[in-house]
Amino acid sequence: MSTSKVILVTGANKGIGYAIVRNLALKYSETSNSQPLTIILTARDQNRGQTSLNELENELKPKKILKNDGGIIDLKFMQLDLLDENSIKKTEETISRDCNGLDILINNAGMAFKGDSFDVNVVRTTFATNFYGTLNVSNHLFPLIRPNGRLINISSNSGRSSILSEKWKKEFGKEDLDIDGLIELMKKYENAVEKGTYQNEGWPRQAYGVSKVGLTVMTKIFARRADKEGKGVLVFSCNPGWVRTDMAGPSASKSPDQGAVTPIFLTLDDDAVPKAPNGSFWSDCQVREW
Ligand code: NDP
Repeated sequence: MSTSKVILVTGANKGIGYAIVRNLALKYSETSNSQPLTIILTARDQNRGQTSLNELENELKPKKILKNDGGIIDLKFMQLDLLDENSIKKTEETISRDCNGLDILINNAGMAFKGDSFDVNVVRTTFATNFYGTLNVSNHLFPLIRPNGRLINISSNSGRSSILSEKWKKEFGKEDLDIDGLIELMKKYENAVEKGTYQNEGWPRQAYGVSKVGLTVMTKIFARRADKEGKGVLVFSCNPGWVRTDMAGPSASKSPDQGAVTPIFLTLDDDAVPKAPNGSFWSDCQVREW
């Protein structure tokens, strides 16, 4: 049976996900914690993932923090594509078998269309990864999260209720909304865009924003589920800020390392984070109105 703490990060071959894995290894090795840590860097593409893992291992080698060099951190790679049911199931099986569970799942993988294109295909493609893909990964891996573990969803500043009209704010904000109800709301948006009635119905022209609103609200639903289960599992969403990655481009204000700060705070902090209301939305290491 593994006594290692286990953290899995999706979409970690580049951008914020890679920075989360890298900074987690560096930060954890600086703490006085002696519990071994396994960090699972996942990527949808085997080669891109393995290349990123090798790059990080080469950087960390001289610091002697990795298990092979006598340290307490074990870096692993797993292939995980949010759009591929088989890869999700395989990840679930591998984690159960090899790690005997998971302590922290960081749902970071996401996509956004570049430019201003907007139609139902943009909505469907964006939702497929950011909403349905993340939901599917969570459905498979959430049950593996051990008592007092955490689920952290990387949402966005645009995944907040302020992008919605009062009518939809009310619908997404219902305290008794469940996953089926949330999927119904996401479908309503998709249908309104397909019919061209979305503006009259009070929806925004923001496929990415609505996909992230779905993720922020999904977080609250998983938090309610966690509270009912009573295992002490914490579930949060966060905005990493505007970060210089392939997604946001070179003009963004934060470096990937800076973008990783709030996700890492939510992963490692054992003081303020457990006191926050479960399901909260965070930005700059603070709870914010979603
Ligand atoms: P990047 O485009 O740099 O990285 C996105 C990551 O997600 C890549 O590893 C990509 O893999 C992966 N990914 C995409 N689709 C899938 C899939 N189907 N299965 C598995 N992995 C997938 O973006 P960022 O690092 O900027 O974004 C990380 C997260 O932060 C996203 O959720 C994003 O929405 C969010 N965010 C980013 C902001 C920013 O300013 N950058 C602002 C607010 C939120 P691959 O390399 O194979 O494409």
